Amino acid sequence: MKTKTAPAWSAAQSEDFYGFKRWGSGHYSVDSDGFAVVQPQADGRTIRVLDVVNEALGMGLRAPMVIRFQDLLRYRVIQLNEMFRKAIREEGYKGDYRGVFPIKVNQLREVVDEIIAAGKDYNYGLEAGSKPELMIALAMHEGPNRLIICNGYKDHDYISLALLGRKLGKKVILVVEQLSELDDIIRLSLETGVKPMIGFRAKLQTQGEGKWAMSTGDNAKFGLNTAEILFACEKLRRVKFKQCLRLVHFHIGSQVPNIITIKNAVIEASRFYCQLAKMGFPMGYLDVGGGLGVDYDGSRTNFESSMNYSLEEYARDVVFNIREICNGAGVKAPDIVSESGRAVVAQHSMLVVEVFDRISKRESLGKEHEPKVTHKVVTDLEVMLRNKTKLGRLERFHDALQKKEEAFSLFNLGYLDLENRAAAESLFWRICEQIAKEGRKTGYEPEELHDLSTLLADQYVCNFSVFQSLLDHWALKQLFPIAPLHRLNERPTVNAQLVDITCDSDGKIASFIDLQDVKQYVTLHPLNKRPYYLGIFLTGAYQDIMGDLHNLFGRVNEVHVFLEEDEPNGFYVEEALSGSRIADVIEGVQYQQEELCRRMKVMIDAATRRDQVKPREGVRLLEFYESLMLSKTYLNIDRGSGPPKRGA
Ligand SMILES: *Cc1c(COP(=O)(O)O)cnc(C)c1O
Repeated sequence: MKTKTAPAWSAAQSEDFYGFKRWGSGHYSVDSDGFAVVQPQADGRTIRVLDVVNEALGMGLRAPMVIRFQDLLRYRVIQLNEMFRKAIREEGYKGDYRGVFPIKVNQLREVVDEIIAAGKDYNYGLEAGSKPELMIALAMHEGPNRLIICNGYKDHDYISLALLGRKLGKKVILVVEQLSELDDIIRLSLETGVKPMIGFRAKLQTQGEGKWAMSTGDNAKFGLNTAEILFACEKLRRVKFKQCLRLVHFHIGSQVPNIITIKNAVIEASRFYCQLAKMGFPMGYLDVGGGLGVDYDGSRTNFESSMNYSLEEYARDVVFNIREICNGAGVKAPDIVSESGRAVVAQHSMLVVEVFDRISKRESLGKEHEPKVTHKVVTDLEVMLRNKTKLGRLERFHDALQKKEEAFSLFNLGYLDLENRAAAESLFWRICEQIAKEGRKTGYEPEELHDLSTLLADQYVCNFSVFQSLLDHWALKQLFPIAPLHRLNERPTVNAQLVDITCDSDGKIASFIDLQDVKQYVTLHPLNKRPYYLGIFLTGAYQDIMGDLHNLFGRVNEVHVFLEEDEPNGFYVEEALSGSRIADVIEGVQYQQEELCRRMKVMIDAATRRDQVKPREGVRLLEFYESLMLSKTYLNIDRGSGPPKRGA
């Protein structure tokens, strides 16, 4: 007999298979030994992600963990600014670029610090959407030429905070989202004698595209419509605040997949800008908001998890269209502000999860169930399994499905015993497996049989919570690229969906990036006794802060990595943040660690008095309970935990 050996597979094939080059924007790839690597500065200096995981393990931090590549973050800030500089130079544009980072996309101190430092030479500023964010922006902001843009609904304190910034000489611009804010701004400015800088957010007619299409149009929750803008202009004139109007702003939603939408919005907003300038307002800034996309699936299409343009094209289109319209109208070119958040931070961080178990329907394959009296439905399925060549794959699949349904009905009516039901189920899966294998051989998969591979897919159980670490996948079906961090020179053979450890059937990943469409499974390696790590990439935007406490899992461990040539693996970990401990999360929902321990002690003492528990054992049980308070919330995979054994 010939022994079957799997055909050879290379790291380069994995790189293509998981799409590293397509979604990695020059930062993520696979080395020849089959490890996922990151090039933070896209300059050939690489870091093996698994080396970082191992270093974190050495520091006592296990997966799930977030890894931040600080140099990559810096690189993205510089890229954005350089691309605008280049477009301005090449288009002969007369204004400057004055980008701002919207803090809401990632408020973490290390992230904001790095962005401020990286943006120093570009006068790159900050955008805030709430009082807490403005408190951060005011204190962290430096340099008189960097902007602070204030969006979102504003109360008196919010406005007063912005005016405080003005008093310190900062360029803080209050963007009016609704008319009532303008009255407050005027009143508080008069009271404090501070001259505000004011912007108007225009409700554009240009419809967005993608998941956030509702951010524009008549039903948008933000912005002033045309009549309101005219009314506001009149008001500014009346109170002699004409000199304060400096900016027109729009934001057509996040992750805009289609460049046409962006061009149209820029054109419409430029018209607003020119009209206001011609009415005699000083103006000076045109703010094109956020929306610059990230190509999560690497398909370079206008699919909602992708984008059909590059950063360079975006910058050029913004600059070009503003120039054209302003030139045509004879209005001086404004400084261009953009509020790109996602595109600046998404790439710099990733989540590492460990697969620790597998749930398989096919586990029962191979086990023959031999009922004492075989029911006809089972014999029918047996015939189907043998007669495989007679009918087409699709037809056999439909026949098998029907027989399986029939078997379940018979069982419910009491005509089928457990043995026969087990035999029917196992035959059904064997037929499916057979049909699926034939498809793989010919390399052609009819549309309708796609479901079959999904049906047969295993579930890989991963130690993390979708609700904490990947909220947009759950809430918005946003896709993230996912790939193993190692074994990439082995052929992946197992189709799998990923399930998390929350007690929620929604806590799973069952849609994956694909060049054509969305895939219902990802093909991974068979599990062995060693740890198996997956990377979930491009998670730096929004995910860190949107996560919730479902099942009280809380924050994951986190390491911040810097390139360093003198280090053996080319990097060092500057900062490690420890994930939530059980005591932390339960205090967040109003339980006191001490009180819970005291209550347990009372119960253990009572059990001891009743002689249910021996005194020594009682002490140990209480110690165990107390010690867990300070342990991490996620599963402690290889060191099994549990109450100490009697006499242990
Ligand atoms: C959220 C938001 C942004 C950031 O959008 P991205 O698509 O992440 O760049 C910018 N401006 C405003 C007003 C926002 O609400």
